[in-house]
Parts: sequence; C-alpha cells; structure tokens
Amino acid sequence: MRLLLGLFLLIGATSQANSQQIGQPLPGWQPGQLDIHHINTGQGNATFAVLPDGTTLLIDAGSIDPIDWRTNKPRNLPIKPNNQRRAGEWIARYIRNVLSFQKSPAIDYAIITHFHDDHMGSPLHITSRSADGYVLTGITEVAEYIPIHTILDRGWPDYSYPRPFDGDSMVVNYRKFLRGQHQKNGLHVERFEAGRANQIVLLKQPNHYQNLFEVRNLAVNGEVWTGDGKPNRHLFPDLKSLAVNQYPNENMCSIALQIRYGPFDYFSGGDIPGILQFGEPAWHDVETPLAQMVGPVDVQLLNHHGYKDSENGALLASLQPRVFVIPAWATSHADQAVLERLFSEQLYTGQRDVFVTNLLDETKAAISNFLPRLRSTSGHVVIRVNPGGHTYRVLILDDNTESLAIKAIFGPYQAK
Ligand SMILES: [Zn+2]
Repeated sequence: MRLLLGLFLLIGATSQANSQQIGQPLPGWQPGQLDIHHINTGQGNATFAVLPDGTTLLIDAGSIDPIDWRTNKPRNLPIKPNNQRRAGEWIARYIRNVLSFQKSPAIDYAIITHFHDDHMGSPLHITSRSADGYVLTGITEVAEYIPIHTILDRGWPDYSYPRPFDGDSMVVNYRKFLRGQHQKNGLHVERFEAGRANQIVLLKQPNHYQNLFEVRNLAVNGEVWTGDGKPNRHLFPDLKSLAVNQYPNENMCSIALQIRYGPFDYFSGGDIPGILQFGEPAWHDVETPLAQMVGPVDVQLLNHHGYKDSENGALLASLQPRVFVIPAWATSHADQAVLERLFSEQLYTGQRDVFVTNLLDETKAAISNFLPRLRSTSGHVVIRVNPGGHTYRVLILDDNTESLAIKAIFGPYQAK
C-alpha cells in the first residue's frame, strides 16, 4: 500500500511539472498537492489553501473601506480584476474557479487574523446587504457565494479582548453575519487557540497524511506557543496594569500560524509588528517571541504587508525564508528598510525570492533600487507544493482576468 502510494505521488509530481505552462491556465489541484493561493484583489489579504486531501482553508478576506478614514477622501484604489464587483465576490469566484474539481465547492475553514478591513471587509460606504440585513463585504460577501463551514477568529464568543467591540461597525456587522449564517446554514465558529495543532485538521483523508501534515496555531491575542505540552507564553501585561490607551492594539493581537507538509513550512502572521517605535514597551514586539519558537521555513507571508514596523532581524534570522510573499495594497507596502532587511545577507546567507501581489506605482518609485530584485510585482502568487512536501514551485497568475493564466513560473525549490 505504501509503495503504491509512493508511486502514485511520484507520477503526480512528474505530470504536474510538465503541464504548467506560461500563458496556459493553472492546471487543477491534484490529490497530495498543497496549493496556497495569495489572491490579489488590491483590497487586502486573501490566502486560500487547498490542503493535500482537498480540505480547504481561507485566511482573511479583505475589502478596504473605499474612503480613507484619515483624510476622509476616496482611496481610488482599483479592484482586481475590475471595479464591477467588490473584493469579496472576486475572492469567492476565484475560489470556485480553483475548486471546479469539487461537486459542491465549500470553504471548510476560514480564519480572520484580526479585525481590520483589509483582512475581513469594511461595511462602511457599502449598500449591498444580505437577506438577513448585514452588509456584504469581505468575509461576509465571500459566504454569500460559497458556503463556509467553520470560522476561527480571535474574539469568539464574547469579542471583548482587549476591550468590547460594541462601537466597531465592522465587528458588529460581522457578528450579525455569524448569527445569520449559524441559524441558516449551521456555520460553526470557534476562537483560535494558540498552541493547538488539532483545530485546523484534514477532514477528507487524514489517515493518508498522518505525521506528514499539520497546521500549528502559533499566536493570538499575545499568547504564544512555547512547545509541545508546555503552557503558552503571555506576552502582554495584565490589562489591569495598563491604561485603556495603552492596551495591545489590533495588529499585535493577530493570529499567527504555520503550515507544515513533510519538510515544507509556511508561516503567516497577520499584521504582527516587530520593530519598536521610540519609547514603546518591549511587549509591542510580537515577532521576536515567535522567532524564538519558529525555526527555518520555506515560504513566509510578510507580516503587516511589509509596513515599516514589520520583519525584524530576529524573525528573519530565525525563519530564513527562501520565498517571501508580500500582500501589498497601499503605498507603504513594502517599506524600503524592510526590503533591506529581507535581502540582507548579514541576517542569513543564501538566495531568496520576493514576490509582491500588488506593488503600487508610487511604491515602485520609492523602492526603485530594489525593483530589479523583485521576482514579480503584480498578480496572484500561488505556492504549489508537490505531494510529500519535498519540492515546490511559485506560479504568478494574471490578475486582470479570471482565466488563472500563468504569467511566470519559478522553481522547483527544495524544501528545507
Ligand atoms: Zn493589514
């Protein structure tokens, strides 16, 4: 049986490698493969993974407020592929497209890393509503077009850490959605718990991948995994010792996780910061404690879109990613100093490839000296890990249409 499975995996890997061609649509997912799609809508994060047995996982579904709250002016950021639909619907259509092999496509797990519009969708300035009355935006809009079975976030069930979200229109709308979907479609909601490796599991053929595949919950709300069986580390001080304006902010509370498949490792940390601004207490740096736990990985999704407070030296020296994916949508993504660290051979030696989903023109001018070193600056970034997790490729897909056409292929890379 094992021999047969091995043979099957080998054939799968070979035929896949041959069928990926520039200009052609991405060949469909095959059993045993791990596909991680970084979907570019120009509106925030949306990572969709098809796990080796076909279980599906969505991490974030951003749809930014069309009005910038700082300036009160329209952002005028084009939506990809075009402005005829909003990001949530585009994300759902992309997912349906890549799940065309399933009879009834569904998202088994959706994770909201934290409660910001570029990760969950803002209801402000949007008129479109569900039959239950909540605004369709980001994750709530995705669910209108494709069923979601389980949602994990950092706030369920009371949404009170570090303070209640009662006045937050985004979370209020989202909770209305959770109630509606639970009653109508049996949506299941859980709080993401740091340290667990059994909260996001393979649902279809777990026995085929025992000890080979795992999603490890690393951090949430300042709780950081410290190793098998050991209690979590509490990074943030007791709230009683802080004034309300000193409470941990939303980014610091982000969910971080690691996906392991054989030797292959992928890290995703939401918008956690790692670079302290002048006078900030040390606990504002969430990256360093994570760096101490997480060893080398193959692929890293940049924290906080590569904003200037992310990707500190301790994290890079520990993770040593071969491949970086930058989920960019604003001019501050990515920052010049962050790119300097990413490419620094002082932190770790060896090659690294950097892919950006949506580098804006203004940013291109600001980081022009790094432009030639970026492998791609626009398009969906797909990590396709071959059965067993030993090798993988990076495929860039055209984001101007829904064709899933391949623009460029990188690799194969050897997993570390
Ligand atoms: Zn963000």
